[in-house]
Amino acid sequence: MTVRDVALERLGAMADPKRPGTLIASGRVSGVVGRDDGSVGLVLAVDDLTRAEAQALEIEIGRQLRALPGISSVRIIQTAERGAAPRDEAATSALPGVRHIIGVGAGKGGVGKSTIAVHLALALARRGLAVGILDADIQGPSVHILLGIQERAKVTAEKRLIPFHAHGLKMLGMGVMADPDRAVAWRGPMIAGALVQMAELGDWAPLDVLVVDLPPGTGDIHLSLAQKLKPSGAIVVTTPQKLARADARRATAFFEQLQVPVLGTILNMAAMPGPDGAMLHPFGRAADMDGLGECLAELPLDPALVAASDAGAPPAAGPVPQAMDAVAARVAEKLRL
Ligand code: ADP
Repeated sequence: MTVRDVALERLGAMADPKRPGTLIASGRVSGVVGRDDGSVGLVLAVDDLTRAEAQALEIEIGRQLRALPGISSVRIIQTAERGAAPRDEAATSALPGVRHIIGVGAGKGGVGKSTIAVHLALALARRGLAVGILDADIQGPSVHILLGIQERAKVTAEKRLIPFHAHGLKMLGMGVMADPDRAVAWRGPMIAGALVQMAELGDWAPLDVLVVDLPPGTGDIHLSLAQKLKPSGAIVVTTPQKLARADARRATAFFEQLQVPVLGTILNMAAMPGPDGAMLHPFGRAADMDGLGECLAELPLDPALVAASDAGAPPAAGPVPQAMDAVAARVAEKLRL
């Protein structure tokens, strides 16, 4: 059994203090994640509990889970939003001076998530919006490389972080912090805390949109983002293969559990021109998009983009930027930007 299964089994046997059924059946607990290092994270709905009841339940869940073999730490995020109306898409983020936060996630690594996060930010900026990008893919930071940033971030006397200005974007992330290599050994909750700190200490304001390049998969960082930063929505990136789409579906469902509206899916590396000019589909056609939200774009595989990305010089024209302009227009429409 995985760490997550062990946790789910116990939570599915604990009675809900108020609602009929178990903590799982009643919807009290959602967004359960587990890691091989024995850490577990979950979201606890407390809308119908008093503060004391919520605290007591949190302590009891932590106690029971930590007593199980294989579970070493438990991170519980309380939310009072269950049952509330879906968040107004025009609502603002929890960061002062930042109107909207958009998370860019993926089911797995290597599908082009960071590249698309950067090109989404650039396309939004081309619309005249003030845009920032936060690299939260803490164990594989690459946004600074894609934007050609080589220096380290500076801290002001008031302990604020000064974002870099590159290609019209403001940027911060673990890749530009003092010692990015150290972060690799950090555990889930520490990493999630670091992300929230970087978001909160950054001198972002004023921004229309902060794009957050999330780690692949589902985990503590996503929980923290949803809870602490109040994102307006998330976009999930996948390649067209059935296996990649299955992972993307899980990522999509996870955002929905966290009550982060999924703005849609981007199919990356969906096609490329063959020697005779006809379009080839190296990863097959994505036949079934069920559970993936609106398909915002099918991006081509563009070898020129790889070279430009490696050189830290993202192009403003070409097939991918052009398609991302359409995505930015759709996102702007959805968020009423
Ligand atoms: P992830 O963040 O999902 O791990 P990256 O954005 O780092 O993925 O992309 C992985 C590699 O794929 C990079 O070398 C990037 O330049 C390349 N890549 C991403 N999207 C495309 C595309 N549409 N066409 C060509 N290369 C791409």
